[in-house]
Formats: sequence, structure tokens, C-alpha cells
Amino acid sequence: MSWEDNVRRVIPYVPGEQPKVTEKIIKLNTNEMPYPPSPAVKRALEGMDAARLRLYPAADVGPLRDALADHYGFGSDEVFVGVGSDDVLATAFLTFFNSDRPVLFPDITYSFYDVWAEVYRIPYEMKPLDENFHMKKSDYMGPNGGIVIANPNAPTGISEMEDVEFIEDIVAANRDSVVIVDEAYVDFGGVSALPLVKKYDNMLVVRTFSKSRAFAGMRIGYAFGSSKLIKYLNDVKYSINSYTMNRPAIELGLASLSDEAYFKETVGKVISTRSWTKDELEKRGFTVTDSKTNFVFASPSKISAKELFTALKEKGIYVRWWDKDRIRDWLRISIGTDEEMRSLMLAIDTIICL
Ligand SMILES: *Cc1c(COP(=O)(O)O)cnc(C)c1O
Repeated sequence: MSWEDNVRRVIPYVPGEQPKVTEKIIKLNTNEMPYPPSPAVKRALEGMDAARLRLYPAADVGPLRDALADHYGFGSDEVFVGVGSDDVLATAFLTFFNSDRPVLFPDITYSFYDVWAEVYRIPYEMKPLDENFHMKKSDYMGPNGGIVIANPNAPTGISEMEDVEFIEDIVAANRDSVVIVDEAYVDFGGVSALPLVKKYDNMLVVRTFSKSRAFAGMRIGYAFGSSKLIKYLNDVKYSINSYTMNRPAIELGLASLSDEAYFKETVGKVISTRSWTKDELEKRGFTVTDSKTNFVFASPSKISAKELFTALKEKGIYVRWWDKDRIRDWLRISIGTDEEMRSLMLAIDTIICL
């Protein structure tokens, strides 16, 4: 008998690499925004009073929570804010998935879902996407202890909301379990499931400042749900750590939210660079999914994805590749600046012509 027999053992989620030297490299591996946050954020940062850090922050994230509620047309009791959407999602898994029945999500999706299920000992079942990486609605109609849908999905970039009833049908058929919709990328042209929150009290829509608001380093995530759902989420949060959001995060989050024009402009730039990138990759023989996110999911034809991943890395261009069934031939490439994407194409041309 050893203390190690009583350890809660887990195989952790592996984030994209954060290389130490950031100068020479082109980093297209973690879906960060290539543009800085709004200038309003810089001004707020510079105007910050260090003396106020001696005070605890608002445990209920009041100011930022209320601003998010206003911005999206919800009541303050229908919003939850956490330390990045990973924190919100982890808390939601712990709160809502407490059944003997399996939680359902696709086999190819955000690879943190099964990690949370494992760490909290939640039974789960991964339902295979079809050959075009689409979810099959019928897979989510059986008994379950909860459902998780990334809308749009990662790493495929595909949204099921082209059929606007897709998510509603699943939520309506599963009123006895909670459906979590992870909208980390929805600002980049996806159709949101947010309006459904008003109609169904068993649904939580989770969002983040990390991608579209260029705030990955600040750690702000939020979620909308019925006031009943949000109360349960808060009860669990207050049972672990009351003060999750620090003062600077709350203040800077408010500043970011205040500058809608800048947000729209930078998101628009990413969308147009994405469409250029897709065209250029297709010219080079890649198969590229119809992405509604700030990355493209692309399969090369003249070289294996693994070889291309390695060759690009040697040239200082980091993209993401998974040694995983069904997606081994694919690369996930975050959308950078136009200049970065031109460098990527030049590098690909050099590599595939060798
Ligand atoms: C990036 C990402 C998240 C988490 O982002 P945070 O930085 O924790 O807000 C959640 N879900 C998906 C699908 C993501 O890609």
C-alpha cells in the first residue's frame, strides 16, 4: 500500500506548444488572435491603480457579469463568468454531469471534454462524426447524462447550425439532461445557439474572450443559461474558489467589451484572411473544410500531414497536428496576419516542390 494508490490519476490535456522564442517564429498552433486587443484595453491597463489590488475582487464578477448581460440581452442572473471558458466548462461538467448515464460528445471535438470527464469520473461516450465530419443527430437522441456540442466544432471548423434547428432538436429531445454548447469560435461567422437559452432551461452556451477578443492571456470565459442553471453553477463555484476572477481581468474585460467597432473590424479581418487561406490551400491540392472559426482544417495531397507539420516547424512555422485516427492526415492552421499566411504559402511551396 502506498499513497500513490490513492492518487486521482489522469492523463492531462495537451495544449498547443508555446515556444519560448517568439521573435522569428510564426505561431499558428493555438488559435490566438493575430491582432492585439482593443486600444481601450491598453488605456485601461495603463490607468490601473495597483493600490486597489489589496482588495478582493467582486466574487460574483458583478461589473463584468452585468456588462455581458446587457451586451447580449440577458438578465444578470443568467450569466456566469470564469477564468477562461476552460474554467467555465470544467465547472459545468462538475455541476451538471452527475448521472450514471454517459455524457455524449463527438469523437472528433475539443480534446478537453474527455479529460474533464476522466478527472471527474463522469461516464461518457464519444459518438463518431460522419465521413464529412458532421454530427449525426440520431446519436444524441438516446438516454444520456448530458451532451456537449462545440459550435462550431474544433478542430474541424464545421458548424452544424447551417441547419438552424440542429441544436434545438437535440435540446428539445433531451429535456432531462443538460446540453452544453461551446461557442469558443462562434464570433468568426458561426450561427449562435444563444436564442435557444431563452426557450430551454436545460441548456448552457459557453463563450470566451480568448479567441475573438484577443484575450487568451487574460483568461475570461462566460456562459449564458437559465437563472436556475446559473445558480447551480455558482453553488459549485462558491464551493471551490469564490474569487476566481481577479480585478485586472474584470476591468480589462469591461474595456474590451466597450469597443464593439474594433472587435468587429479585427474579427472581419480574420474572416477575410481565412477565405484567402482556404483558396490558396485548395490551389495547392489541399482539402479544406468549410470553417466558421479562426482556423482552417486542411488535408494535404502531395505530402503527409505529419511530414508537412514537421517541415513547417523546422522553418519556424507552428501549426497543429494530432496523431489520432481519422484526423492523422489533417492539419489545423490558425489564421494569422495576411503577411504570416503569405509566408506559410511560400513555405508550403518550398516543401511540396522538394
Ligand atoms: C480555446 C477553446 C476553449 C477554451 O478557451 P479558454 O481560453 O479557456 O477560454 C474552449 N473550447 C474550445 C472548443 C476551444 O477551442
